[in-house]
Amino acid sequence: MLHIAVIGSGPAGYYTAEACQKQFGEACRIDIIDRLPVPFGLIRSGVAPDHQSIKAVSRRYEAVALTDNVRFVGNVTVGEHVSIEELLALYDAVVLATGAPLDRPLGIPGEDLPGVVGSAAFVGWYNGHSDHAALAPVLSGPGAVVIGNGNVALDVARVLAKTGAEFEGSDIVAHALDALGTATIETITILGRRGPHQIAMTPKELGELGHLTRAMPLVDAADLPPQEADAALEPGQRKSVQHLRDFAAHTGNGADKPIHIVFDFFAMPIAIEGDGKAERVIVERTALDGEGRATGTGETYAIPAALVVSCIGYRTPPIPGVPYDERLGRFANDEGRVMPGLYAVGWARRGPTGTIGTNRPDGFAIAEQVAVDVAAAGSGKQGRPGLDTLLASRGVAPVTFRDWQRIDAAEIARARAGSPREKFTRVEEMLKAGKS
Ligand SMILES: Cc1cc2nc3c(=O)[nH]c(=O)nc-3n(C[C@H](O)[C@H](O)[C@H](O)COP(=O)(O)OP(=O)(O)OC[C@H]3O[C@@H](n4cnc5c(N)ncnc54)[C@H](O)[C@@H]3O)c2cc1C
Repeated sequence: MLHIAVIGSGPAGYYTAEACQKQFGEACRIDIIDRLPVPFGLIRSGVAPDHQSIKAVSRRYEAVALTDNVRFVGNVTVGEHVSIEELLALYDAVVLATGAPLDRPLGIPGEDLPGVVGSAAFVGWYNGHSDHAALAPVLSGPGAVVIGNGNVALDVARVLAKTGAEFEGSDIVAHALDALGTATIETITILGRRGPHQIAMTPKELGELGHLTRAMPLVDAADLPPQEADAALEPGQRKSVQHLRDFAAHTGNGADKPIHIVFDFFAMPIAIEGDGKAERVIVERTALDGEGRATGTGETYAIPAALVVSCIGYRTPPIPGVPYDERLGRFANDEGRVMPGLYAVGWARRGPTGTIGTNRPDGFAIAEQVAVDVAAAGSGKQGRPGLDTLLASRGVAPVTFRDWQRIDAAEIARARAGSPREKFTRVEEMLKAGKS
C-alpha cells in the first residue's frame, strides 16, 4: 500500500489526489490535511462570492473526497501540530499544496498605516476566512485605492462598487454585506505601474465593470496605445484592451453614475501618508523603458484614500524543515521535487499565477514522479494509523469530510434570502457545526 499525504485542500491538493487515484488506483491511501476545518482553499475564501459558477468546481473535488481511498484531515496545521519530518516518516510521499496566502509587501513608506490592507486579508474578509473575518476595513472615506492590474484588483473594485442587490445569489458573508451597505466610497482608483497593454486582467472580469448598477469605469483615452498596436496582442488580451477602449469612449465623464472606478495607468505608488491612518497615496507617474519596464518620471501627485488595498501578489509561508526560495516566495523545488519523498504543487510550487485549472497538470506531474520514485507497493510506512496515533497523543482532533458535510449543510440552512449559504467565519463555530 502506498501512503500519500497532501498538505492543503485547495485545487492543487484535490487535483493531486485525483491524479494519484488515477495513477495508483486502490493501491494507495491519500490523506488531505488542511489547517482549516473546511476544505477547498481559495475556492471558498478567494474566488469572488459573486462568481458562483467558478466556485462550483468544488463539486468535482467533492467527488474525489468521497472516494474510499481519500480522506480529509481538517483543523491540522502542518508545521505546528505535526512536522514535515514526522509526515515523511509516516508516508511514502508528502505533497505540499499549501498555496500562497501571504500578501507581498508593497515596500513603501506608510504601508503599515491603519487603512492599508493586503488583498488576502480584504478578500478573506468578504469571503469569511477565519483569519480575516474580524478585519473591519475602513469604508467611510470618499476614496479607495486598489494597487495592482490583475483580476484580484478587479474583484476588489467590483465588490466595493456593487449595491446590496447586485450580491443576490452570491455567498458574500453578512458582516461584509452589511459594512459595504454603509460604505461612502465614491471613487475607486485602480493603480497600474504600466499601461493598458500590460494588464493581467481577463476580458470577462473587465467587461463586468461596464454593467454595474451604480458604478462606472473611467479610462483616460490618452493612456491607450494606437488601436493598430492591439493587433500584436494575443486574442484574450486584445479583448481586454478593447473593454478599456470602450470605457474610454464613454462620454459624460461618469456623470450618470455616482461611483467611479478610475483606471490610473503609468502610476506607481511611492508612499502612503496620513495622520495616524491612511489619508492619501502619493503616486509617481511612470513611463515604459525599451524593455517594457516602468520607470518613474519624477512627476508626483496625491490620491485621497482612507482605504488602500494592495493586490500585487502573494507569498507561501515557509514550513520548518522545507527548503525555501526567499526571492520567489515559495518552496525551493525542481519541477515539483523538493527533496526525497517531498513534493510541491500549485501556488506553493509555482507562485501565485494562473487559473484554477493551471494547478491540475501539477498534480498529474507529481503522481507520475511519485510512481518513478517510490516502489508501487510502498515501503511499509504506517500512513493513516500512524498520523491518527500521533495527533491523538497531542490532543488534536481532526475534522473529517463527514464533519465538513455537516458544516456545509448548516451553512446552507442558515443562508439569508437570495444567498446560497451563510458561512461560519470562526473556527469554533465550524467545529461546533461539524459535530452537531
Ligand atoms: C482573490 C483571488 C481570486 C481568485 N479568483 C479566481 C477565479 O475567479 N478563477 C480562477 O481560475 N482562479 C482564481 N484564483 C486563483 C485560484 O484561487 C488559485 O489558482 C488556486 O486556489 C491555487 O490553488 P492551491 O491549491 O495552490 O492554493 P489554495 O487554494 O490557497 O489552497 C491552499 C490550502 O492549503 C492550506 N494550508 C496552508 N498552509 C497549511 C499548513 N501549514 N497546514 C495545513 N494546511 C495548510 C490552506 O488552508 C488552503 O486550504 C483566485 C485567487 C485569488 C487570490
